[in-house]
Amino acid sequence: MTMWGYPEPVTHLIEQFMKLPGVGPKTAQRLAFHVLGMPSQDVTEFSRALLDVRDKLRECSICCNVTDMDPCSICRDISRDDRTLCVVQDAKDVAAMEKTHEYHGKYHVLHGAISPMEGVGPQEIRIRELLQRLGSAEIQEIILATNPTVEGEATAMYIARLVKPFSVQVTRIAHGLPVGGDLEYADEVTLAKALEGRRQL
Ligand SMILES: [Zn+2]
Repeated sequence: MTMWGYPEPVTHLIEQFMKLPGVGPKTAQRLAFHVLGMPSQDVTEFSRALLDVRDKLRECSICCNVTDMDPCSICRDISRDDRTLCVVQDAKDVAAMEKTHEYHGKYHVLHGAISPMEGVGPQEIRIRELLQRLGSAEIQEIILATNPTVEGEATAMYIARLVKPFSVQVTRIAHGLPVGGDLEYADEVTLAKALEGRRQL
């Protein structure tokens, strides 16, 4: 018996669930016991899915989005507009933008935002990769769609300054998104409106 009063394998599973965001001890115990009651085939599938995201996913060498093939399906899609880049903080934001069906350009995924408080500087996110793309591709507009948070705004301003020499139009998605909220939590209509109402920086 361990500190939880459960056999070791159960405790181990509870500890794994507690590594997930938003999962406290109570939820972790509930999830662990749910797994105990699952058919063995489902448990196998569950564990395989966990390993698969680890082993089969990588960053697209063009847009840095998370993908199982490189370049990713969006970068490969010749029907999409190569001249417009939407810069977002993470892969979930790409999914949110795609759900609006209003955006037909390409993306660049930063994997975070500049946050001095959390020790995240410009070098820690994919800004260098963005500049490389601007240097090698014919991009006419960059839409800065980082989150409407202090970090997201600071990142947008930082990028806007950096890309000045590239003679590319730089726009910022409109306010109207919930302040402090993440793009991924905005509904499709709000996000489509924010995109449509983007203004030049
Ligand atoms: Zn890509």
